[in-house]
Amino acid sequence: MTIIRLVPVILLQVFVCVSIISEFGYAQARKSNAGKATAINTGTIRQMAYADSLRLVDTYKDLHQNPELGFMEVRTSGIIAKELQLLGFQVITGIGKTGVVGILKNGDGPVVMYRADMDCNSVKEITGLPYASTKTMKKEDGTETPVMHACGHDAHVTWMLGVARIMVAMKDQWKGTLVFLGQPAEEPLMGARAMVADNMYDKGVPVPDYLFALHTWPIPTGTIENGPGVRFSGSDQLDVTFFGIGGHGSRPEVAKDPVVMACNAVMQYQTIISRGIAAQDAAVLTVGAIHAGVDNNVIPSSAVVKLNLRWFNEKTRKVLLDGIRRINEGIAVSNGLAADAYPKITMKGNVNPLVNDTALTAKVNAALNGVLSPAGIDTERPSSMGSEDFQHLIKPGQKTVYNYIRVGTAHPDLYAKAIAEGKPAPYFNHNGNYQVDLSAIPLGTVIGATGLMALFKQ
Ligand SMILES: [Zn+2]
Ligand SMILES: [Zn+2]
Repeated sequence: MTIIRLVPVILLQVFVCVSIISEFGYAQARKSNAGKATAINTGTIRQMAYADSLRLVDTYKDLHQNPELGFMEVRTSGIIAKELQLLGFQVITGIGKTGVVGILKNGDGPVVMYRADMDCNSVKEITGLPYASTKTMKKEDGTETPVMHACGHDAHVTWMLGVARIMVAMKDQWKGTLVFLGQPAEEPLMGARAMVADNMYDKGVPVPDYLFALHTWPIPTGTIENGPGVRFSGSDQLDVTFFGIGGHGSRPEVAKDPVVMACNAVMQYQTIISRGIAAQDAAVLTVGAIHAGVDNNVIPSSAVVKLNLRWFNEKTRKVLLDGIRRINEGIAVSNGLAADAYPKITMKGNVNPLVNDTALTAKVNAALNGVLSPAGIDTERPSSMGSEDFQHLIKPGQKTVYNYIRVGTAHPDLYAKAIAEGKPAPYFNHNGNYQVDLSAIPLGTVIGATGLMALFKQ
């Protein structure tokens, strides 16, 4: 953090320029070998990405300074639509509110969809970077919140725009249909389903054979995690509303206090996993917010508890949801509430676990051997308890297979310092100090374009 604060913008720019020069040499040196091994011209991909890196870093900084919350990504999707139109893509906008799709038909071959999510987080940025976000946005409930790209979706959009230029310039080296997709509202895990529910596949968006995406990750730039099988847990977001009887703070005996009910519930929920799920099975239950009341001396009539669940199979999910319902009803009974005043559960975002296709993942990793050192490709890392809705872009009933890569975007020096201090990473997604190493902008573009080229190879 301190290091980054002290590094002036000019040095970062110089660093990028130096990277361009050195990458040119590197690209030329590896060109023939990589090309032969994978039949993908990774030398040209690298050369193009690094030649484009100043523009891409500017795009990244602009997106970073102008973050937009889920389903409000009007500016961001506008930038994607404009750029893809300029590149000759057929562009469809306004899918699932702010979703955008660009289609490029280039002969017979597979349909490959590349997804970048666009939304930011309700987080106040504390990086101190010269291009830090200072924005606030009004949420749907009318409250104003600081906003920040604390999950790197600004990098995802930037990478996609860099990859688009390369794929168009190298059109003679792949055949098929390329679909770029700017997805809204990944953070609430609702945007992918919203696009499908908005009949995306009946509005001219080709059904993909393969689906592909990259996500920033706080591991060193130059490394990726891309293993086969389960990579992310399934997740549910739900609200529980406790109903009581409001009243004067001095007369709790004639009220029924939903604040106490909510607090009891939060503590009891923690026993669902510890007492109800086998130690070998992983699950998480987090209460991220409790909303109740306004004044010190007023007992409110309701309290809302906002939960987030993580699980890997339907059986565990059922144990969590049944446990929450039973605890809610137990609290209602012990407070003498009638059945019509039992707590209400509102299910919101839901996603299944993300499962990388084994063959597809191996194919992409083989191609990436041409641009990353073999030690930089980690295929062994266990699944994260994080979640994604990317896989819900698949048309229901369709057999689309996918690969999703976690791309290192932590500055290697900051990462090494964190490890030396006994921390697992210098910062984590969704924290106000989350940041993307600028040298990961061109490199992520190379990874994206190389992965796409691999998917087009039959
Ligand atoms: Zn996130
Ligand atoms: Zn994310």
